[in-house]
Amino acid sequence: MSEQTRFILNESDLPRQWYNILADSPVAPAAVLHPQTLQPVTPEFLSVLFPMELIQQEISSERYIDIPEEVREIYKLWRPTPLIRARRLEKALGTPAHIYFKYEGASPSGSHKPNTAVPQAFYNKRAGVKAMTTETGAGQWGSALSMACNFFDLDLEVYMVRVSYDLKPYRRVLMQSFGAQVFASPTDRTDSGRAILAQQPDSPGSLGIAISEAVEVAATSHGTKKYGLGSVLNHVLMHQSVIGEEALKQMDMAGEYPDVVIGCVGGGSNFGGIAFPFLRENLNHGQHTRLLAVEPAATPSLTKGVYAFDFGDTAKLSPVLKMYTLGHDFIPPQIHAGGLRYHGMAPSLSALYDAGLIQAVAVHQLATFEAAIQFARAEGILPAPESAHAIRAAIDEALDAKEKGEKRVILFNLSGHGHFDMASYQSYLGGELQDYAYPASAVQAAMASLPAVV
Ligand SMILES: *Cc1c(COP(=O)(O)O)cnc(C)c1O
Repeated sequence: MSEQTRFILNESDLPRQWYNILADSPVAPAAVLHPQTLQPVTPEFLSVLFPMELIQQEISSERYIDIPEEVREIYKLWRPTPLIRARRLEKALGTPAHIYFKYEGASPSGSHKPNTAVPQAFYNKRAGVKAMTTETGAGQWGSALSMACNFFDLDLEVYMVRVSYDLKPYRRVLMQSFGAQVFASPTDRTDSGRAILAQQPDSPGSLGIAISEAVEVAATSHGTKKYGLGSVLNHVLMHQSVIGEEALKQMDMAGEYPDVVIGCVGGGSNFGGIAFPFLRENLNHGQHTRLLAVEPAATPSLTKGVYAFDFGDTAKLSPVLKMYTLGHDFIPPQIHAGGLRYHGMAPSLSALYDAGLIQAVAVHQLATFEAAIQFARAEGILPAPESAHAIRAAIDEALDAKEKGEKRVILFNLSGHGHFDMASYQSYLGGELQDYAYPASAVQAAMASLPAVV
């Protein structure tokens, strides 16, 4: 076992291929359906939204897909990211467990999201697309795609959830600095936005609404604009596999192997990114690592949602996916400051969870911010509130190991830093946050509006 604290790979260790879990998953995700006909979508339908190379990746069953050199060159601006042993946190907890974290906050925009933003912009550019549209909640995805579109000389329209647009002005300025146009969603620029505003002029917006707007703009652009999604889809989770592939090498440098791999889940991309390469080792090479997805009690898609076909967006424009869902009309509770607000979950991850190959836990926001502060004081990094969910679970694992007197090796993904989340930390430190658990009755009520797939 290594005495080192940081495990740093060379540029030459940067993965050359992405890993596709669909090649090894014993449970195939269900077909993707057309939102009107509820029949399986054709590549032609998807091609209104995405360039063909990304559609091919989306439906591919190849185990590995080559990362284009142009993408690897840009990855080198921040990859390989460090793997760090949280020795000071271990000491603070008095635990015999070893805690490692992969630090994706080292990317220029501060999270794992550029790992997929860069290839998405690249494939759009290569297909001759001139502009992209997207949505953003807290602003991490919008920032990442703004950076990537700027690198490849593409215009970008970002539909930013209204409440974040108002409360998080600095992420908006970051996007504008990269040259993106940012709109507070719901806007009056789209039918979907106008329909919401007619019902509720002061709508705070939601990711589901913002996706509808971005999809509508791309779908009605006569091929000039395409849409990019920052999570959920197979190709997005595949692009994130660079996290887990690097972590496997780095754990090897550390002379240890994780008993448990932990990640927070919104749509599932950073968790899939770190966990799926370890799941491959479980499935194909006899390892027994537990894979633990952590979600907020306020948006508990896996632990309280229903595994069903649902729309990906509020206006029912985007494809219908079989996933764990809280219902496409879900509006996150205002008192929830901790991010991870999407109503659904990646279909590939949903299928694996349903099959029992992945575990999930929901954590409350006060305990999550408490873990974030404890981590920051020990390790010096203020985490994104999203990532703090993974930290909460990692600390709970370490405390459980302490109680049982076990040496446990814990690896978690630190999906981003929290330097643009000061308003959330201010609320927490000011004692303004409360715990909130999304009620099961609200999930039940939302099920009435699921698509009637036979
Ligand atoms: C977007 C984001 C998440 C949640 O998205 P996933 O697709 O579930 O990874 C988590 N952490 C950070 C820092 C993010 O920006």
